[in-house]
Amino acid sequence: MNRSGIGLLLAAIAATLSTEATAARFSLESPAEGIYLHRGAQADASPANGGDIANIGFIIGSRCVAVIDSGGTAAIGSALLAAIRKLTDKPVCYLIHTHVHPDHGFGDVAFAGSETVFVAHAEFPAALAARRDHYRAALRQTLGDAASGSEIAVPTRLISGEQMLDIGDRTLVLRAWPTAHSNTDLTVFDLRTQTLWTGDLLFVDRIPVVDGKALGWMMAIDALIAMKPAHLIPGHGPLSRSAEVAFTAQRNYLHKLITECRSALGNGITLSGAVETIGFDENKHWLLFDEYHRRNVTAVYTELEWEE
Ligand SMILES: [Zn+2]
Repeated sequence: MNRSGIGLLLAAIAATLSTEATAARFSLESPAEGIYLHRGAQADASPANGGDIANIGFIIGSRCVAVIDSGGTAAIGSALLAAIRKLTDKPVCYLIHTHVHPDHGFGDVAFAGSETVFVAHAEFPAALAARRDHYRAALRQTLGDAASGSEIAVPTRLISGEQMLDIGDRTLVLRAWPTAHSNTDLTVFDLRTQTLWTGDLLFVDRIPVVDGKALGWMMAIDALIAMKPAHLIPGHGPLSRSAEVAFTAQRNYLHKLITECRSALGNGITLSGAVETIGFDENKHWLLFDEYHRRNVTAVYTELEWEE
């Protein structure tokens, strides 16, 4: 075997080992009948966590299974599929993306080539096309060979407004949101158990990231609380049974960014001045504050610059 052959073999062994390691430590919780959740680490992707940083899971109906987000790598997607197979041999009929961010979707490849229909917000294909190359390069840079084979699928069933999916004696209500956390946010509401999967419209303990519009996000938060779900599954962080409680910290944070950015704009404070002064008392409430807060101020300031 030549040197490149040995390199490929070593990469394949590394990928297999990382898949097995991921499957071995893949935990599940079940907050309600037929609802299964795997909670990612509350951290940025790293070799230590293998990119397993987002909440992902599935819902089992009498006919088939709906997966909600596939995780940050091919290995995580495979571990999710293995976890499903331990519980049921029903087909995975839908893989629903809560939004385009790569920590939620690079595990798609584990479900490709089967009967699975990939479902997402109507804006998802365009957002993916614009970002795919960057997402691939960033994953490779962060995880090296553990990124091997990871791929986000192009969805074929696109959602605008609200649509129902039937997985057999079980109806899921999918709702595509105007730009909020991102421009591809989609929530999944299981009518039987009143469980709401928010995707990244809700961050608990980990600082929210504004990759969309803070004003749109505030409106989405009000609408999500008004749904009064019995169980709430955030995109990052622990489960909750009260939307009012679960959204409080995030709503306060976004409200503060909006209010203080508006005031800075009114007082002629520049973006760089705003970034160094706004919202630092929020530090104590959030994990990864230093990594994302300044970026959030920049996003909200820029968003509000254009309002009258
Ligand atoms: Zn996200």
